[in-house]
Amino acid sequence: MYRIGTGYDIHRLTEGRELIIGGVKIPYEKGLDGHSDADVLIHAIIDAMLGALALSDIGTIFPDTDPKFKGADSKVLLKNVAELIQAKGYEIVNLDSNIIAQKPKMMPYIPEMKRVLGGILHLDEGDVSVKAKTNEKMDAVGEGLAIEAFASVLLKKV
Ligand code: ZN
Repeated sequence: MYRIGTGYDIHRLTEGRELIIGGVKIPYEKGLDGHSDADVLIHAIIDAMLGALALSDIGTIFPDTDPKFKGADSKVLLKNVAELIQAKGYEIVNLDSNIIAQKPKMMPYIPEMKRVLGGILHLDEGDVSVKAKTNEKMDAVGEGLAIEAFASVLLKKV
């Protein structure tokens, strides 16, 4: 019994915030704006995991009107969702994802992102894929105003 899910997220880049993607702090002049730490990749992964079991989305489970989630560490939210999936009797088979960012370069940080995500989700490195590309300078992402992420997960009934 397999279930597939997809996730998408986008956050604006703004001054005075840390840039945290895939649970990794990336040195940059701007960070992502949001109620939580605005980890765009983890948010897309959470939506893919919830979507696979038709459990709505991150905004429903962790509402941004709830002060509890202000500045929340998205790694903790991801751990909560991993436990929810487990409680429903499923495990992740593999995870694939894309970060779309014009700047800064994601490549140097991807191995660490894979380690962090694999650690939280109890996945081997070969089952966690994180890719990155630019938007060829087109649209808001290409102009460096925002960063977006896509994710797909496959779940298997344990
Ligand atoms: Zn988000």
